[in-house]
Amino acid sequence: DYFTFDEILTFWAKERPDGPAFEQEGRVTSFAETDDLTKRLITLFRERGVGKGDRIAWLGKNADMYFLLYLAAARVGAVMVPIGWRLAPPEIAYILEDTGAKLLFAGAEFVETASRVAGDVPMKPQVIEAEAARREAAALPPATYEAPGPDEAVLQLYTSGTTGNPKGAVLSNRNLLGLRNPGNEAGLDWNYYEPGDCMLIAMPCAHIGGTGLMNIAVANGVRSLVQAEFTPVGVLEAIENGATHMFIVPAALQMVVQHPRAGETDFTHLRYLMYGAAPMPLELLKQAVRTMPGTKFLQAYGMTETSGTISILPPEDHSLEGNERMRSAGKAVPGAEIEVRGPDNSELPRGQIGEVCIKSPSNTAGYWKLPDATAKTIDPDGWLHTGDAGIMDEDGYVYIQDRIKDMIISGGENVYPAEVENAIFGHPAIAEVAVIGVPSAKWGEEVKACVVPKPGAEIEEAEVIAYARERIAAFKVPKSVDIIPEMPRNPSGKILRRQLRAPYWEGQE
Ligand code: ATP
Ligand code: MG
Repeated sequence: DYFTFDEILTFWAKERPDGPAFEQEGRVTSFAETDDLTKRLITLFRERGVGKGDRIAWLGKNADMYFLLYLAAARVGAVMVPIGWRLAPPEIAYILEDTGAKLLFAGAEFVETASRVAGDVPMKPQVIEAEAARREAAALPPATYEAPGPDEAVLQLYTSGTTGNPKGAVLSNRNLLGLRNPGNEAGLDWNYYEPGDCMLIAMPCAHIGGTGLMNIAVANGVRSLVQAEFTPVGVLEAIENGATHMFIVPAALQMVVQHPRAGETDFTHLRYLMYGAAPMPLELLKQAVRTMPGTKFLQAYGMTETSGTISILPPEDHSLEGNERMRSAGKAVPGAEIEVRGPDNSELPRGQIGEVCIKSPSNTAGYWKLPDATAKTIDPDGWLHTGDAGIMDEDGYVYIQDRIKDMIISGGENVYPAEVENAIFGHPAIAEVAVIGVPSAKWGEEVKACVVPKPGAEIEEAEVIAYARERIAAFKVPKSVDIIPEMPRNPSGKILRRQLRAPYWEGQE
């Protein structure tokens, strides 16, 4: 078993020295080069006063250099903090100040923003452009260093900020690699990679769906094909050029399968498509399976705090013939445990809805500088409360309903937005839908749907309501519908329901 990035890199540099570790826009970095360059980057860190326990930050799109800097930091026990490039300067400043990062590496197009923001925070981190760091390190000697132990932190990843302010989850070597290394023999087949495999990384590296995916690729000694940012065409081209594995969020998958070029794309290289991070509408999933009949689909459920995937819905549960399991987020991966718990924190009988709780070697030890939030989330016995509502069936399959916070209580009945959204999503004139609760004198809260029509299509409130009425129980059917031009989403592609709710709840909460 390998529990540190240092061990993993040393192993693959010996085993597959010429094997590609990273590829971006045609530039390939082998495992031997990765091994060598990361050791030289450690020298660069040291010259700038950075070592074990120090924070370094990244501001930029996805880049092979980001991953190399991250691996270099991990080898020496410095902690990488990737910052989402879509954040506004005050948000970037908040993270820099919160972490006390000493160095801020930036993609070329972000050097100006980085310098401006860095000047405004007390630590005044030095800004270094990514490619300049690569050149500078190449001329420096490789460092000898003491690698950190399995439980030392290597990554501080901020949650997506869907329900409130992003929180910095501190993740160690063991957290990130414990469930995913090649020694994890109990792995499901998603965990096995062949030497020539190629993992497409198109989701943002400031999200666990980006950085976590690279962890899996590196742990398994295969190539990470890095794309600066997600575009549907970029994904289609990567698949035609040989990507064998990828992870994608539902909103992005929708853009891929509905893209005009999808129909003429050859998907045969793509063996595994992993999706997750937000509820997957069933109609969209079926459409994707029909578009890529030769690809094995896997649903992943997890969170930043669990270093990503905790449950997997395996390919065999994706058959198009009336498979109820297709709505499930699958079973706990080997090594992780899931329980659905009630308000008194004890496990509920199967089939009852409660809070999804997780125990896993991949669980964070806590949030950076947020002891109260940490204590609220993680029990003394190590069980992490996800804030997600779910049901577990007799066979251990978990059905994620939605966030507990987003549950609508209407006339005493509980309504989970995802179920209502799923029912409405299939309407041919609707591109996107989000369901929220709004104040109601009669019901306490009532269900409202916010709907984005497909380009060129028109839809009316009454039609949405009638469509839903045919598909779900009366108390779940929206009482009102807002037709909106665009869905508010965060950079990880999640619907910002709190933004949709805000105007209705002003002064009431
Ligand atoms: P914040 O914690 O800041 O509000 P966030 O919870 O969206 O943001 P992430 O850690 O990126 O931040 O996302 C984890 C959450 O994503 C889970 O708690 C769950 O609500 C949702 N999620 C992940 N995978 C799935 C899935 N397969 N199906 C449904 N929801 C999912
Ligand atoms: Mg969360």
